[in-house]
Amino acid sequence: MSFDIHNLQQRYLHLAPKAGEKARVIETDVFIAGSGPIGCAFARNIFDKTASIDKLKDTKIFMSEVGSHSSPRYGWHHKNEVGYQKDIDRFVNGALSPLSVPPVDTYQPLLDPTPSWTPNSANQLIINGNNPQQDPFLNLGAAAATRTVGGMSTHWTCATPHPHEEELPDTFTSSEWDALYKRAKGLVKTTTTAYDHSIRHDIVKRTLSNAYKNDQHREFLSLPLAVERRKDNPEYVTWTGADTILGDLAVPGNSPRFTLKAETRTTAFFHSGNKIHGVILRDIATDQDFVVFAKVYVAACGAILTPQLLWNSGIRPEPLGRYLTEQSMAFCQIALKRSIIDEIEHDPKYAERVKHHHQVAPKDPLPIPFNDPEPQVTQPYNKYHPWHTQIHRDAFSYGDVGPAVDSRLVVDLRWFGYTKINRDNRVEFSKDITPDSDNTGAELLDSYGMPQPTFYFKYGPEDQERNQRMMADMCEVANHLGGYIPGSNPQVMTPGLALHIMGTIRAGTDKKTSVVDKNSKVHDIQNLWLGGNGVIPTAMACNPTLTSICYALQASDSIVDYLGKQ
Ligand SMILES: Cc1cc2nc3c(=O)[nH]c(=O)nc-3n(C[C@H](O)[C@H](O)[C@H](O)COP(=O)(O)OP(=O)(O)OC[C@H]3O[C@@H](n4cnc5c(N)ncnc54)[C@H](O)[C@@H]3O)c2cc1C
Repeated sequence: MSFDIHNLQQRYLHLAPKAGEKARVIETDVFIAGSGPIGCAFARNIFDKTASIDKLKDTKIFMSEVGSHSSPRYGWHHKNEVGYQKDIDRFVNGALSPLSVPPVDTYQPLLDPTPSWTPNSANQLIINGNNPQQDPFLNLGAAAATRTVGGMSTHWTCATPHPHEEELPDTFTSSEWDALYKRAKGLVKTTTTAYDHSIRHDIVKRTLSNAYKNDQHREFLSLPLAVERRKDNPEYVTWTGADTILGDLAVPGNSPRFTLKAETRTTAFFHSGNKIHGVILRDIATDQDFVVFAKVYVAACGAILTPQLLWNSGIRPEPLGRYLTEQSMAFCQIALKRSIIDEIEHDPKYAERVKHHHQVAPKDPLPIPFNDPEPQVTQPYNKYHPWHTQIHRDAFSYGDVGPAVDSRLVVDLRWFGYTKINRDNRVEFSKDITPDSDNTGAELLDSYGMPQPTFYFKYGPEDQERNQRMMADMCEVANHLGGYIPGSNPQVMTPGLALHIMGTIRAGTDKKTSVVDKNSKVHDIQNLWLGGNGVIPTAMACNPTLTSICYALQASDSIVDYLGKQ
């Protein structure tokens, strides 16, 4: 390889191996940063496509993931644990690390007279996402990252609706979109039938369809979900995780062509001219740096940590981090009303199951079998109701029900609104210590030693007005189902909680307003591709992962073309 690693190490001295150590060098064909569902979609598609091309059949893929393994298969969805499926309220997500925490404005002197160090206005906390530069009024307070093998697909809700045409970017023609969505849905196993046999699902859908039968602008459908009902025991399901996307590659060591290295941070790409020449990585456990040389490079580290990696590499096109959109969210929980329970008890459609339940559990006051699956219903986005809706059950850091109510009665309503595109809504990363240094460090680092993100985000007046209509709509629908559960009354959630940030590395043709092209390749760099929700350039209300997989499939097709021409 003609590339001069020594020169690069001089430039990136602070990243280079410590004195006396040799740089470890790994050679591969495809390098991927990030093992979330998008990085894995790249890996799977490149692996499969190259396998059938003689010249490329030995193509090697090396994936680096800063987080650790949390399951025997790479990136397994944690909700596949039977215990969580028996009691979803136990699944209170703990793997979300906040990205930017503003300084506390309620500092209280310690009452304890022991001399302790306490933060003050001149001496602020900077540990674990604490960020003195973050204006709380411009923050996405609930924005977070999940650093683990599989990324957020180890806990996501798996809602994979097809966006409405108003939400759809014009990156592809409608027939190209259709073909990509078909492939993406197959990859994540999207279905609308996994809950058809559930009494609760059926009654919620029916109640709402009846309530709005004269309203031609509403329809209540089964929520498309990336899930499969288990054949060995249909009481349980298998939620799609990164492992589903990887297929047989999710079994460690299954192919010499695919390597996933966990606890390994991708620190920076080396580039000169219009080409990436290598990438420096750090083994988090040993604190050792090493270098990977590849023919193509992919960054799929999530919507904030992908632009962070580019920023740290000195790749800083003007739109990087700008045009950020995040969905607003309204949430409430209801307990199903008496009349609906009576209907379950007396409807001949459910009679056999209800009778069986009364026989096996004569003391249960409810006619609903204990293993009856939860409802999974949606009213899709349309121009009269321009928001995405989920009428279902899931458990996060909020909305766990506790012992006050039988969880079979509980239905969650989550409404997601889009935010109009605004160039000034953005994430910035901590600046260099010296402005013209070789990107060799930042004033503030996140807990993984990368430049600290700071958000500048506001809803515009149109967004605010739409958000209010969205909240009213959610309450109206909720009232047909039952009463609010105390503590889960209708509420607007902290910005960022949707965890659907988009636009930060957006696709487009104009270099002034986009970072990547239609193939998700960075403008003016011939061998760097990006993936994730950040690529989506439109204001989308529906869950974005399926669309990001479409982009990743198109991108990885173009990578295989590129490799074929080398
Ligand atoms: C509670 C919750 C519910 C959700 N529900 C839905 C839903 O129903 N539908 C939907 O479409 N989406 C949903 N999402 C969002 C969905 O999970 C994300 O859109 C999806 O995981 C994004 O995939 P990704 O691969 O781009 O990023 P991620 O899943 O974030 O994966 C990125 C990976 O990159 C790693 N990484 C970051 N920086 C580096 C670095 N420098 N070096 C090496 N590795 C790095 C991270 O550790 C992480 O593992 C939900 C998310 C959460 C948390």
